[in-house]
Amino acid sequence: MPQTPTADVVIVGGGLIGTSIGWRLAQAGLRVTVVAGDAEAAASRVAAGMLAPVTETTFTEEKLLRLTLASIGMFDDFATEVGTASGLPVGLRRTPTLSVASTADDAARLGMLADYLTRIGLESERLTSRECRRQEPLLAPTIRSGLLVGGDWSCDNRLLWAALREAAGRAGVRRVDGAVGRLELAGDRVVGVRLSDGSGIATDQVVVAAGAWAGQLDLPLHLPVRPVKGQILRLDPAGLPQPGLTVRAFSQGAEVYLVPRESGHEVVVGATVEDLGFDPRVTAGGVYELLRDARAVIPMTAEYTLAETSVGYRPGTPDNAPILGASGIDGVTLATGHYRNGVLLTPITASVVAAAVLDGALPDVAAGFTLARFEERER
Ligand SMILES: Cc1cc2nc3c(=O)[nH]c(=O)nc-3n(C[C@H](O)[C@H](O)[C@H](O)COP(=O)(O)OP(=O)(O)OC[C@H]3O[C@@H](n4cnc5c(N)ncnc54)[C@H](O)[C@@H]3O)c2cc1C
Repeated sequence: MPQTPTADVVIVGGGLIGTSIGWRLAQAGLRVTVVAGDAEAAASRVAAGMLAPVTETTFTEEKLLRLTLASIGMFDDFATEVGTASGLPVGLRRTPTLSVASTADDAARLGMLADYLTRIGLESERLTSRECRRQEPLLAPTIRSGLLVGGDWSCDNRLLWAALREAAGRAGVRRVDGAVGRLELAGDRVVGVRLSDGSGIATDQVVVAAGAWAGQLDLPLHLPVRPVKGQILRLDPAGLPQPGLTVRAFSQGAEVYLVPRESGHEVVVGATVEDLGFDPRVTAGGVYELLRDARAVIPMTAEYTLAETSVGYRPGTPDNAPILGASGIDGVTLATGHYRNGVLLTPITASVVAAAVLDGALPDVAAGFTLARFEERER
């Protein structure tokens, strides 16, 4: 009879979140198996890679902002550690992000964001049209105003993810293809996972890191995670000048961002935000709007090669913040719901969720992000 393999911890989902947690736990000496799921579908592959706590924030997300700021504070060391452990590049760019506005209404909107940032004590520099173009010469002359944020960086999420997988493998993480069909429970305690192909892995610790699919897992609890579709483009400047900074824009009421890579071969243009469930279609309208808005901000993009169109699913939650820590089932820890900040939140998630598995307690910095906050709301 074939033996059922055992693991100290099984991680459900091998995106940035699952892989980084697995790596941290293997570093602590645990035998870790990551059941990876579908790499092509992972948001970690599709994302733009902005590390932008400040320009990504909104007026209603101050609690999340504290977590994203803590994570950007860890990013430099994290990237260096992943790079050293894997021997691979991670594509971190420590260049500022420039948010710009096109019309008077767009400028008013950007001005409100700037006021808010000042009020909560975050640093940003207001720029005139001319100052914007001095920072980023490829900008359209129609740009009215801007906001320069030195601490909002970017990284090539595909490079980071590949490097993390390598680092995790070198630390002893076993990565298996396929999907977890269900968790095996004995009473209210987990004793293993059953994969969709019928095979099993015995374990008394499971971390759910299944991204936008977490809400679909067969679990005796309700996870309020939904897929929020995003269409996104990759342009290749093909030898033409590319922007030096990440540029985000309010353009004629729409929002668009352009994220250049160090290689000079990729500018990511994103992204639509569509509450359509798992809808894999790249639509003519989605691509049209992204290209139109990108060209309005940086006219040169019209000359670039359209290298890739893709769709990804942000793991959305009711308050746009992740769900971390205890699930209510003994031995099952949650690490999902990272919505539009999962790349940025990778270092802090890996650290706090690994601590929760190892010590049985979630560090204070993440205390407000457990599943319990939604259960309390429902009561
Ligand atoms: C268009 C777009 C742009 C984005 N831009 C940014 C950005 O600029 N900056 C930023 O910080 N974030 C960004 N994000 C968000 C970020 O990509 C996500 O928050 C992050 O990648 C989530 O990582 P994850 O590992 O939780 O999920 P994923 O990367 O989606 O990985 C989850 C994995 O779990 C697998 N899985 C699912 N079910 C099972 C199962 N039953 N068994 C085993 N495996 C399973 C899936 O197949 C998948 O491979 C963007 C997202 C999108 C869609």
